Amino acid sequence: MDKDRHIIHMDQDAFFVSVEVKKNSKLIGKPVIIGGSSDRGVVASCSYEARKFGIHSAMPARTAKMLCPDAIFLKGNMDEYSKASQEITEIISQRVPLFEKASIDEHYIDMTGMDRFFGCMKFASELRQTVIKEMGLPISFGLSANKTVAKVCTNECKPNGELEIPFPEVRSFLNPLPVNKIPGIGNATYRKLSEMGVRKIETLAEIPQELMFKILGDHGLNLWQKANGIDISPVIPYRERKSIGTQTTFESDSMDINKMKAILTGMVTNLTFDLRSQQKLTACITVTIRYSNFETVTQQARIPYTALDSFLIGKAHDLFKKLYSKRMLLRLIGVKLSHLVSGFEQIGLYHTSEEEYDLYQAMDKVRQHYGVESVVKACIVAPPAKDEKNKTIKYNPRKKSEEERKKSRIRTFINSGASSVNKPTDS
Ligand SMILES: [Mg+2]
Repeated sequence: MDKDRHIIHMDQDAFFVSVEVKKNSKLIGKPVIIGGSSDRGVVASCSYEARKFGIHSAMPARTAKMLCPDAIFLKGNMDEYSKASQEITEIISQRVPLFEKASIDEHYIDMTGMDRFFGCMKFASELRQTVIKEMGLPISFGLSANKTVAKVCTNECKPNGELEIPFPEVRSFLNPLPVNKIPGIGNATYRKLSEMGVRKIETLAEIPQELMFKILGDHGLNLWQKANGIDISPVIPYRERKSIGTQTTFESDSMDINKMKAILTGMVTNLTFDLRSQQKLTACITVTIRYSNFETVTQQARIPYTALDSFLIGKAHDLFKKLYSKRMLLRLIGVKLSHLVSGFEQIGLYHTSEEEYDLYQAMDKVRQHYGVESVVKACIVAPPAKDEKNKTIKYNPRKKSEEERKKSRIRTFINSGASSVNKPTDS
């Protein structure tokens, strides 16, 4: 039961900006924007001073520039942010037995049962001070009976805040807040609720459960529970590091390096699409190969948090190059992405342009509708078919029968050269 639980949600304040401010004190109190430059790119993070101008994450940098012409734009350094993130996790892991790393700068801590030995508020407050002292970075926390309410607490007291809402006060705390303060309410749901005249959490909480289910399905039911301060989701221990992976066993063993690289590219593309769909980032990539004699070797690399094809494909190719040392046939190749955390806007950091960011979003949309292989990189498409005179057969859909048309659909090496591509799995 929620009444017996004590959950802390800790969240760094304007994390990326704070890391920059720590390096350069001239940025203190200024509207700072990370990601892109003033006319290109997407806002990955912005200071509280910039937020006063209506600037927020994932906004085109050009719009941000219009809203605040004096804003300072920084390209950002994901390596540094990832390192700081790992250090913060380290500090927390040394002091609590059960915590979840929810994103690059957020942690949930389950204090249930420990409240008899420590005052939870005092403990959380001291932990916050430790992070501030050791990292030199601002952080806020909320403490309540479950993850949702703890997160709402944090958001209400940010920046540089601490807020505890004990179980009996949860409803009265949530009631007057706008509905979009409930974590997980996207723009579309918010619009729908607004159209229904639902503005405050209290109104949402009083709608009959069945009606919410009728209007928004399971998501509606979930929102109704959250509006009523109910959330049974557990704090998932960090040691259960989630990963997604895929591997391919070839129909016949191969030594074709270009084909291997193309397969890797295809596999990484599928996995990163999956990552982005789940709004996750990875900090570790592993490549595995198995020679025809069943000898299996693996290489791993820690990387800054990302969900980008281009970066991960490069890494996968590097690891493969290091791994494939024997001139021997291969029978299997695999890729795994692990150390997953939630995050999305952050992918904007690696982009040089808003166009590229938009391109990823557009490609993902097509894939969501027509399947993951509806958009593939040209380098993994099999070379065009040749006729007996070695001339390229031109594809003319109008001339072909239905059967031929099916056959001549774009084939990837994954389809033509491999017996199976396992679906990515959570492990
Ligand atoms: Mg944060």
